[in-house]
Amino acid sequence: MKKVINVANRLPVTLGSPIRKSSGGLVAALEGITNEEFTLQSVGWPGTVVEDRDKAAVSKQLRDDFNCIPVYLNNDEIDGYYHGLSNSSLWPLLHYNRVYMHYSESDWQAYVAVNQKFADTVLDNVQDDDIVWIHDYHLMLLPQILRAARPALKVGFFLHTPFPSSEIIRCHPRRTELICGILGADLIGFHTSSYLRHFRSSALQLLGIESEMTTIAYRNHVASLGVFPIGINSGSFKRELAQKDYLQTLTEYRVNWKDKRIVLSVERLDYSKGLLRRLEAIETFLASSEHAGDVVFIFIGVPTRGEVKEYQELREKIEREIGRLNGLYASVQHSPIHFIHQSIPFTALCALYSIADVALVTPLVDGMNLVAKEYIACQNHDPDDYNPGVLILSEFAGAAQELVNAIIVNPYDKLEVANAIDQALIMPLEERQQRMNYMTSRVMQYDANHWASNFVGQLLEHHEQLPQPKSMDDNENRIIDALCKADRPALFLDYDGTLREFEDKPEQATPSENLKQLLKKLADLPIDTYIISGRPASFLEKWLGEYPFSLIGEHGNCYRLPHSSQWQSINQNTDHSWKKPVLEIFKLYEGSTPGSAIEEKQSSIVWHYRQSEPVYAQWKANQLLHEMYDMLGNSPVEIHHGKRIIEVSSIHINKGRAMEFFINKNTYDCILCAGDDQTDEAMFRVEQPALMSIKVGDGDSQAQHRVADVPHFLSLLERITQSYTTDNKQLLPPHSVTTNRVANAMQKAES
Ligand code: UDP
Repeated sequence: MKKVINVANRLPVTLGSPIRKSSGGLVAALEGITNEEFTLQSVGWPGTVVEDRDKAAVSKQLRDDFNCIPVYLNNDEIDGYYHGLSNSSLWPLLHYNRVYMHYSESDWQAYVAVNQKFADTVLDNVQDDDIVWIHDYHLMLLPQILRAARPALKVGFFLHTPFPSSEIIRCHPRRTELICGILGADLIGFHTSSYLRHFRSSALQLLGIESEMTTIAYRNHVASLGVFPIGINSGSFKRELAQKDYLQTLTEYRVNWKDKRIVLSVERLDYSKGLLRRLEAIETFLASSEHAGDVVFIFIGVPTRGEVKEYQELREKIEREIGRLNGLYASVQHSPIHFIHQSIPFTALCALYSIADVALVTPLVDGMNLVAKEYIACQNHDPDDYNPGVLILSEFAGAAQELVNAIIVNPYDKLEVANAIDQALIMPLEERQQRMNYMTSRVMQYDANHWASNFVGQLLEHHEQLPQPKSMDDNENRIIDALCKADRPALFLDYDGTLREFEDKPEQATPSENLKQLLKKLADLPIDTYIISGRPASFLEKWLGEYPFSLIGEHGNCYRLPHSSQWQSINQNTDHSWKKPVLEIFKLYEGSTPGSAIEEKQSSIVWHYRQSEPVYAQWKANQLLHEMYDMLGNSPVEIHHGKRIIEVSSIHINKGRAMEFFINKNTYDCILCAGDDQTDEAMFRVEQPALMSIKVGDGDSQAQHRVADVPHFLSLLERITQSYTTDNKQLLPPHSVTTNRVANAMQKAES
């Protein structure tokens, strides 16, 4: 039987004596999937600080009676991780509110530490074939932490809030860490396709990660992306509507408001719910509608985050505004707005949903909005008298993408909302029934159980889709061993993206201190080392000239032997007549794509668009590619679409040919080549039994192996240098035989 470990900020219990199980929708949704196939265990914070002396007993009871594993937090952690980073910086931004975002470094540190604490608890309790399902913005770093610790674990992440446009999420000082954290999951779920689209475009805009509609590759790992609109616990509503208590409450409410039409709003008192805007629309309605005197607006405002300044101010403003409107529009018998600033019992809530003629659900932004769905679930309560109400729903609630038969409104347009209230109040029975029928069947069928089992089912189906080059983990020792044992080994190493990470400006990507140290060590080994790059000779000479390596520039157009300052062409008879017309077209693209630039080399021309707005530049790049294919069909050129570059180069010149040129002149018995982009694939394609190839980073490749990124590749090189030492290979005197051997062999071959 598989275990699903459900990880959320809060455990589904309330501590106290006795400890009580909470009745939230998430708990019920997950319980729905427990059957003979799955068991469920919850990991989370129990919601309050527990004294050290009580922890053992509380843990035992939580585990034995509720299958819950607590993550205990102290007051500082709660302040920094929960009130701070989660609720004061992430929540506002995820709900498009930049002004309310408050960020502090100490909150971030607490967030990192608590995510790690959650990870430790999960890792202590998880078996290899368990499934881990992580919920929401409190735990965005957790997927990547778990992946690093246990790569084989199946990890899902679901975001219960919106994911905003990249223009908003980029305001967060830790946006890249947060996105990378989520990317550690195998399956990443959102309520709507818009949130998914925003996530993909944020990964592209902020991290340069390209993705498909349902997959995204990052660091040697492919995550699936999916849309899973959460539903309500339909069973509990069905059951409640048959209860005596409910029927009695319903009757009482009917008597109480017998002459009134009811417009109901239910929500936590959060700024994202748009209460102040709604009051403006209600004022417009009260001032102009002929139905104004018949209607009572019932507002259930559930208290939330009362310790945060913005929420206190919101509450004061709402109370002031309701007071003003009631003062203006009340009569002796009637007050138009009935405000309840409390949570109400489930039975009362269902009865209110049932008698409300209209549900007014107008958040400014809302991940899903369950209230809209709950209202629908309570409309068919009397089989003998099917008299459903009308749902008015904001277009900015996730639910609007499903509940298309509601009256959909723009909550910022008070006139439209006021008119919608009028329209709802006079809507004929038949139209109300038609609209409600469709929505009822959707809400009752695609409920919370369906949501949970769909997510878990897809998570189980997920399997890595990057099988081509094998991950290095298994093969690292074999490669090192082969190099150490060889009599004549050689390394062909690409520079950018392989030895050095990219920078926005290529001229900034000079060797780091670390790399310099490593190159010095490599220089001392009895290995022929070639740096093979798209860079021009001048760059390679300036930054790598001091090492006793062979340098190969411009994707194999020219080379320089160790200790020589003389650069030579690999193929002198190359036809370059295509360069002039290509350059002219490239200039048009440079002019019309801000941030892009042309680089002209001896045997190639490159259009760089790394610093341009990625979506637009990608579109321009595709256009340019088409134009080049049309124009150069018969020319002796190759067109490369590399990482944010398009390069047109002579067909007689590529890294594969250059590598072969050197292999043919030497008798290497073990060759390792490594590179990160399309231009390196020419090396990977060379047919040579002694050749081992490594792709650095994501993307399709014909290389035999893969490492995640530059640091991983550098650590492999580091291990190679160490293995030579520990294998007691005789190290050569610094900068001697390696270098001379290549030079001698070349001179011999040339003569
Ligand atoms: N709710 C509640 N107590 C109340 C009124 C409502 O617990 O007094 C519940 C309501 O039934 C719904 C939830 O609060 O399930 C609100 O969920 P929604 O998705 O609408 O908004 P969220 O609060 O998650 O932003």
